Parts: sequence; C-alpha cells; structure tokens
Amino acid sequence: MAKEFVKEITSMDEDFAQWYTDVVTKADLIDYSSVRGSMIIRPYGYSLWDNIKNELDSRIKETGHENVYMPLFIPESLLQKEKDHIEGFAPEVAWVTHGGSEELAERLVVRPTSEVLFCEHYKNIIHSYRDLPKLYNQWANVVRWEKTTRPFLRTLEFLWQEGHTCHATDEEALDETVKMLKVYADVCENILAIPVVQGQKTEKEKFAGAKLTYTIESLMHDGKALQTGTSHHLGDGFAKAFGIQYTDKEGQLQYVQQTSWGFTTRVIGAMIMVHGDDRGLVIPPNAAPTQVMIVPIAQHKEGVLDFAYELKSKLSNVARVGIDASDKKPGWKFNEYEMKGIPVRLEVGPKDIEKGQAVLARRDTGEKFFVSLEDLETKLPELLEDIQRSLYEKAKNHREDKTNAALNLDEFKTVLEKETGFIKAMWCGDRACEDKIKEETTATSRCIPFEQEQVSEKCVCCGKEAEKMVLWAKAY
Ligand SMILES: [Zn+2]
Repeated sequence: MAKEFVKEITSMDEDFAQWYTDVVTKADLIDYSSVRGSMIIRPYGYSLWDNIKNELDSRIKETGHENVYMPLFIPESLLQKEKDHIEGFAPEVAWVTHGGSEELAERLVVRPTSEVLFCEHYKNIIHSYRDLPKLYNQWANVVRWEKTTRPFLRTLEFLWQEGHTCHATDEEALDETVKMLKVYADVCENILAIPVVQGQKTEKEKFAGAKLTYTIESLMHDGKALQTGTSHHLGDGFAKAFGIQYTDKEGQLQYVQQTSWGFTTRVIGAMIMVHGDDRGLVIPPNAAPTQVMIVPIAQHKEGVLDFAYELKSKLSNVARVGIDASDKKPGWKFNEYEMKGIPVRLEVGPKDIEKGQAVLARRDTGEKFFVSLEDLETKLPELLEDIQRSLYEKAKNHREDKTNAALNLDEFKTVLEKETGFIKAMWCGDRACEDKIKEETTATSRCIPFEQEQVSEKCVCCGKEAEKMVLWAKAY
C-alpha cells in the first residue's frame, strides 16, 4: 500500500514540472479555480503562508514600519504619471471598464503594485521634514495578467506585502533598501532554510521606475534560479512625477527619496523546489504549520489514545504538534504526512508505552529512532533545530555544487549544457552583451552579487575589460 501511494507523485528526475504540480495539488496546498492562472490556496497552503507572513510582519514592525491598506483600483491617469513605471506594467495590467452596465468615464487598473497610490497619498500627508521618514507597508493581493502561469510561481493574482517609504535623503533611502533586503534574506535563510545570494539587478532587470533594485536569488533543485525578494531604491523619480515635497530645516523645498520592497507567495514555490523530494513536500520546522505529527499505533487498544493526547498536550509547550486519531491505517498516515512534509512523525503504541518510549521519524532523512518519554521535551526541540540546520546546509551544498564559472561564451554554453545552475562570469556592463547572452543561452543575469569575485579580467561575452562579476542562470 505504501508504495502505491508514493507512485502518485511523478519522480523529480523524470519530470520536474510535473513533480511540482503533483506536490502542490496532492499535498493539499492549492486547487485550481475556473479562471486560467488563478489558484485557490487551501487551508494547509494558507497556514504555511500565515507562518511566513507572521515572521516577516514582525520583522517589518520591529524595523519601525506601520501597516496600512490601499484601495484595489487605480485610475489610468494616476498610473501614467511615471513613464517608465507604466511602460513596465502596461502589458500585464487588468482593466476595469464598466461599473454595472455603465461604462466608466475613466478606466481603472486592478493594482499590479501600489507605488502610485502611495505616492498620491504621500503628496497629501508629507509637508515638512518632521513628517519624515514615512515607513508604510501593506499586505495585499495584486493582479498581473501573465501569459504562462504556475501555482505560487506565477499566477494572475498573488498575495504579497509591499513596503513603501519616504526619506529626507538619498543615503537614508539607500540604507532602507539594504535593510529590507537583509530582512528578506533573514526570513529566507532562517525560517525557510533557503540560502540566498544578495546583489543588485542590472539596468535591464531592475524594477520599472527605480533608480536601483536589490534582489535575493536562490537556486532550485533542478538548477534554475528564482528571484525570492526585491528591494528598490526609487530615488526622487516618483516624487518629481507626483510632486511629493517637504520643507527642510533651512526652509527649502525638497523632493523626498523613496523605496519600495516586496515579498510574495512565490516563496512557497521556492521552498517546495529547494527542499522537496520524490515523496513530496519537505517543510523546514521553522515554517511548518505542524512540526510534529503524532500517529498512535494500535489505537483501539486501551489507553493508547489517552496516552497520545496527553503526549500532545505536553509537547505542545515545545513545538507545534498535531495528532491523527482517525481510523485510517498507520501506513496511510505515514505516507500522508510525509507527502505533506511534516518535519517529524511521532509513533506511540502499547509496547512503547510499556517501555516508556516513543519512535521519532525525520522527514528529511527518513531516519527513525527511539526516545525515552522523559527526554522528549528536550530532545524534540533539538531535533527540530537539527533538521532546520541540515536542510539549510543541504540546500547550500547543492547550490555550491551547481555553481560554475565561465570565462568566455563558448565555455558558458558548455557549462550550462552540462549542468543547469548558477554561472559566475565577468561582464563589461554593456546591455548588448547581456542581451546576447540571453539570446544564445536563455540564461539571464540574476544579480551583481554584493560579494564579488574576480573570475577573470575580461567580459565573458565581448572580451573587453570587465570589473563586475554577474551571476547568471536560467530562471523561473
Ligand atoms: Zn561585454
């Protein structure tokens, strides 16, 4: 029975895309809705998002930000105020043209992002240096009319937070941009056990309307990269377009310096593709809605269920514990919670009770061992920490294994043919070289890492002098 169950998930090596689809649906994370490209996030998927959201939200507040809510609709004229911004988003915005049966005098956009709404508001509430900084964040849904979609990774509608801040100086705005990138990296690495590379996007890849974009990039199991969070220094471009000015201490009118930064449900896709295996999801303990699932064995025997429930209430002080006391067979339960990626399974039956022990099984390694009941409360948190750490290490080693350097375009192609992964290569800074690399290899520039290495002195594409090392990859 166990084997048949596992067969329902396509093997990763056979077809990674199908494996992903199998996992998101069979682990009950999502269901499809009748509109192409939109998804229903089911309770298990949503509780995962809730955990990530709570971790991030507390960090956003700890760094001095306040949550607000902006409206869903944006008038066309407002979106058009910043030229680069509208050009960047126009191909994927959804328009509202009618209210009931009446055609609207002005079309409305369903927000693809809320920069312009924040700007309109900031213009009204910022007047003096005393009003700065303004550090706002919103948790919301946004809509982008994508042509090809995939659950969590690219959907017509997704959930996210978008931070929008105003500062007196360029330096303060830059500090903010870096600070929030570090917050994202912290959540990725310490909650989701996803190692990230921090760096700057090239001009070509930066956010529409931004002065510069910082990003965290991670590598999936199949060797493709995924942009996991971005933080933008907007400079004063939006402030000038919207007239957001303040009077400084000398009585002079100045434009504010702005930032924006976003983190989305996409990160759930990253978590699945970094840690998952042929048996399904693997969720890092710090993100897991349920960290330990108790499966009673021979639960019809007297005392077993009572004992299991007692254990649950005791262990709930040290972990997020669930129990499955349904009449399904233990084998079914084992498979189900392995597929759902619950980090630890705890089995307890009549013999264990007699011997004063329980069986613990790790989802990540499959390892099983006995622990005496009196040690459980100390051993369990240690085990969860160990799983968290080893998932991170494993993902990091995988990334290092799949990171190669290339000195010229031929080498670039050979390396990429042999192994999909990150490629470190020098770049002259010319857009033409970036375009050519994409055209000939389908790899895109992921970022200019903050931690630079001098791989060589020459651009990987044109051979001219180069100073910057860029991280390239095929990406989601
Ligand atoms: Zn070049």
